[in-house]
Amino acid sequence: MRILIVEDEQKVARFLKKGLEAEGYDIEVAHDGELGEQLARTGSFDLVLLDVLLPKKDGFTVLHDLRKNSIRIPIVMLTARSTTEDIVGGLDEGADDYLTKPFSFEELLARIRSVVRRNRQIKTQLHFLDLSLDTVAHKAHRNGKQIDLTTREYALLEYFMHSQGKIISRQELAKEIWGYDFDPGTNVVDVYVNHLRKKVDADSKVKLFQTERGKGYYLSDTKLTSKNP
Ligand code: CA
Repeated sequence: MRILIVEDEQKVARFLKKGLEAEGYDIEVAHDGELGEQLARTGSFDLVLLDVLLPKKDGFTVLHDLRKNSIRIPIVMLTARSTTEDIVGGLDEGADDYLTKPFSFEELLARIRSVVRRNRQIKTQLHFLDLSLDTVAHKAHRNGKQIDLTTREYALLEYFMHSQGKIISRQELAKEIWGYDFDPGTNVVDVYVNHLRKKVDADSKVKLFQTERGKGYYLSDTKLTSKNP
């Protein structure tokens, strides 16, 4: 499990990193709010420990901006402020839990376990930036708006969501979604991916479907730089 710690106090960050790594968690640290938000948006973490007073962007603003963009990653706020107003504000903005500094390491571990447990129970949702998938209802939403998909398109999109940022070849898609050996003479995969791409990306400035020529497709908001000239 990967945890992102957003904490500007080096000593605290180091202590948390060391302790959580000893518990078997995979840890990344960001020392300011801007970088923290950037990393939280990559979709490669399972939980964020978010300090409130941070350089560049404070924790509440980071939380607010993540939730505004439909990024549902579990967030535990680490706050030195203990006023009820701050705590209620944080929970209202969509924090999953909070801890008031100073806290014991045991308590932090318990909170992490509880947030992860709660999140697992409701983890029928897959997210990538503002794109979300309900894996029970088989529905997709982009920026809160439902995207109408055929059964096959849904299956394709779910496959892409599980492989975020990874290049998926036409052969792999044909095998996984259509279940037959790839016939190089057919362009059925490209046709379907293009249909899906249109539906997902049409109304958004940020395009999520990327093509790597000769290799396949991947889901990302930025184009990987091709190593081939
Ligand atoms: Ca701080």
